[in-house]
Amino acid sequence: MDVPVRVLDDGAWISIGDSREVGVSEMWRIDDHEFCGCEVADVLLEAFFDSRVREGSVEARPIGRCITCSTHGPLGWLPIGRLEDGEFVAVDPDAGHATTPA
Ligand SMILES: [Zn+2]
Repeated sequence: MDVPVRVLDDGAWISIGDSREVGVSEMWRIDDHEFCGCEVADVLLEAFFDSRVREGSVEARPIGRCITCSTHGPLGWLPIGRLEDGEFVAVDPDAGHATTPA
C-alpha cells in the first residue's frame, strides 16, 4: 500500500496519507546520533526538509537545536513513526531515538 509522506507548510509538518501528523516545535531525545557532542541530545526541532518511508518506518530530516550545547543544523534521518496496514503510528519523541546519517 502506498501512503504518500510529504513535508508541508514550509517544513512545519510531516503529512502522512493526507493529514498533518508530526509537527515541529517538539523536543526529541536522541541518544544515537552524529549531531553534536552530547551523549544524549535533546533537540528542539525547527523545520523538516525531507521525508521518506524505509521498510515501513517513516523518517524525516529535521533542522534543530540541541538545548544543551546549542549546536544548530540539519540532523540525519530521524524515525518519527511507522506504517501498519496503511495507518500511521507515531513514536514517542521522549523515548530515545537513533538517527541514520544522511
Ligand atoms: Zn548537544
